[in-house]
Amino acid sequence: PYEVLVIGGGPAGASAAIYAARKGIRTGVVAERFGGQVMDTVGIENFISVPYTEGPKLVASLEQHVKEYEVDLITEQKAAAVKKGDYIEVTLESGATLKSRSVILATGARWREMNVPGEKEYRGKGVAYCPHCDGPLFKGKRVAVIGGGNSGIEAAIDLAGIVEHVTVLEYGDTLRADAVLVRKAESMANITIIKEAMTTEVLGDDNKVIGLKYKDRKHDEMHVLDVAGIFVQIGLVPNSEFLRDTLELTERGEIVVDSHGRTSMAGVFAAGDVTSTPYKQIIISMGSGATAALGAFDHLIRTPAP
Ligand code: FAD
Repeated sequence: PYEVLVIGGGPAGASAAIYAARKGIRTGVVAERFGGQVMDTVGIENFISVPYTEGPKLVASLEQHVKEYEVDLITEQKAAAVKKGDYIEVTLESGATLKSRSVILATGARWREMNVPGEKEYRGKGVAYCPHCDGPLFKGKRVAVIGGGNSGIEAAIDLAGIVEHVTVLEYGDTLRADAVLVRKAESMANITIIKEAMTTEVLGDDNKVIGLKYKDRKHDEMHVLDVAGIFVQIGLVPNSEFLRDTLELTERGEIVVDSHGRTSMAGVFAAGDVTSTPYKQIIISMGSGATAALGAFDHLIRTPAP
């Protein structure tokens, strides 16, 4: 059995594995795809101390750093269940079971996509999901934010300070964001909010986004909006479906953790985008991976081995 078994190989999982292995304890990592969301990221400008890098390059360094230590790295395997016996047992989709004295869940999250033509083709070429990450790339340009919930309106307020103009497109007839955010957005001269608008297509010139098409649902009319960027803010979905009946989750499916990264099951810790910790960023997920590993180590030295 392992002493620490990390599920997930994104920045949170990699960080947790390095911190655990540096304690000299038997550490394993199971990851469906090493690198996680960072593999899908083009430019990264907010990984502090590195002014610019690219996703695959950062992932290569993460992997190299993990491999400096004695870590069993098991990729292309997906965890399907976590159960507590003498050890914590993690069952994989392949049917195999791994045992460990402690487990760190770092399975991350995925952005909900619009699923319209052009979205995939122009991802990273104008279609963006993270205003903190990509907002500055659109300085002085016109952008759209898809979604009028809290994250959409927060994104609009954030972007309005950087870009020339922001149009928010909300599918429903009311905004779902908190009233204080809506008032703030409405008070800003360079934000326009359009309700009952269904985005139907991302338009591009083969290299980058040049606009989008949306349907005015009330009047059943099609419109084109000229924008250089489209921020999709219709939800971040945690990869926690397999834990639904096992751990305490928030109503959005995030694993509830305390300040030590502990979950509702003793010996099981969690880190990164899959948790209830706010602000989903690479640097934050790495920090929480370190916290969870140190939390797990603390747990191990206080708990007799089975
Ligand atoms: P993830 O990166 O999501 O990794 C999850 C890991 O778990 C993966 O290895 C996955 O394969 C694995 N996994 C999932 N389910 C299972 C399972 N059941 N069993 C086994 N393994 C599983 N942040 C920034 O700070 N700066 C940026 O510029 C930036 N740009 C971004 C651009 C894009 C397009 C996206 C999508 C995100 C961006 N982010 C950025 C956010 C950042 O990528 C995330 O905050 C970060 O990757 C979260 O790390 P994580 O380790 O928690 O999860």
